[in-house]
Amino acid sequence: MIEKIDHIGIAVKSLELSLPFYVDVLGLELEGIEQVDSERVKVAFVKIGQSRLELLEPTSSDSPIATFIEKRGEGIHHVALGVTSIEERLEELKTKGIRLIHEKPKIGAHEAKIAFLHPKSTGSVLLELCEKPNKGV
Ligand code: ZN
Repeated sequence: MIEKIDHIGIAVKSLELSLPFYVDVLGLELEGIEQVDSERVKVAFVKIGQSRLELLEPTSSDSPIATFIEKRGEGIHHVALGVTSIEERLEELKTKGIRLIHEKPKIGAHEAKIAFLHPKSTGSVLLELCEKPNKGV
């Protein structure tokens, strides 16, 4: 099941420069900052009720986020849908002809299982499926 918008990913050049807007101006709560080596990004989570903004700063010039910023500038990078049973969801989407960037989920920030759908199959929106560990706890 797709349950909610888990978070919206926003590509930024610098967390240090971007966070004051969200925290000081908008008054949102910074939940934490985490390094995700597999994606070569530093991630800051800003909590909004049940949902979050995920600010992504590249840690290396070959990071996918660095490439994104180079091509399109800073801004909204992806929308993450919170799902249950991510493997089943991916299997189901595949049988419906949706192109997947990740056939199998990988581990992202917060130990969540994540997988991206190909924008060619989603009307150019980069969609992430995201399954949090310890659901219901
Ligand atoms: Zn994300």
